[in-house]
Amino acid sequence: MKIMPGIYLVGAGMVGLSHSNDSYIYLLDGGGEPALIDAGVGLEIERIFANIEEDGFDPTKINKVILTHTHADHAGGCKGMREKLRCKIFVPGNEVNLLERGTDEELGLIIAKESGIYSPDYLFPHCSTDVVVSNGDTIWVGELQLRAIHTPGHSPGSTCYLLEHRGKHILFTGDVVFYDGEIGLLNYWGSNLADYRSYINRLANLSVDVLLPGHKLFTLRDGQQHIDRAISALKKLSVPPTFI
Ligand SMILES: [Zn+2]
Repeated sequence: MKIMPGIYLVGAGMVGLSHSNDSYIYLLDGGGEPALIDAGVGLEIERIFANIEEDGFDPTKINKVILTHTHADHAGGCKGMREKLRCKIFVPGNEVNLLERGTDEELGLIIAKESGIYSPDYLFPHCSTDVVVSNGDTIWVGELQLRAIHTPGHSPGSTCYLLEHRGKHILFTGDVVFYDGEIGLLNYWGSNLADYRSYINRLANLSVDVLLPGHKLFTLRDGQQHIDRAISALKKLSVPPTFI
């Protein structure tokens, strides 16, 4: 599903595009070298590949899967994609251990299963890392240049990716910040309000037009106002609203 030139939504549980547990999975078209932001839960990878083909791309040409973080709904598909596509998995530095050998508790799966989000028998497919992503890194997808912004709070390695393309500032936020300024502070291991307070300012003054989070609404216009709402809420006394 085309969002704008060069950016497609190829997986999304919430809108029925793929398995109900999938986060949003974005495809970037850098000119002959498509890449994915996030990989979904890993339970219906073939549907994601079919969506990619419907959008006119060859899944086997994908050689980068770039993770915002390693929770199962975003990273459970890495192992299957790596095996089928021989692609490289880009992982935020603080979460390499989680992807490779994180426990269910560290991955937030125990509470998420008890909350009814995942099936009790879901097993996270651990996956090895090909490229470690650090704050400020540049990742090229063909002609597109992504800048990694490490913004922990939702999880230790949560990373946003900023892209300037066709005069627009586009931010992929994973589960860090959402439409209306909701944040991803949750009641499980690794989610941390103090980290939010410390790092959310890295998203200030980016002049974001297009806000592309991992769930819920996205917007093609005035994305920065939603981020700024979260930034100012994190300066007040009460905990800002969260996305679940
Ligand atoms: Zn998450």
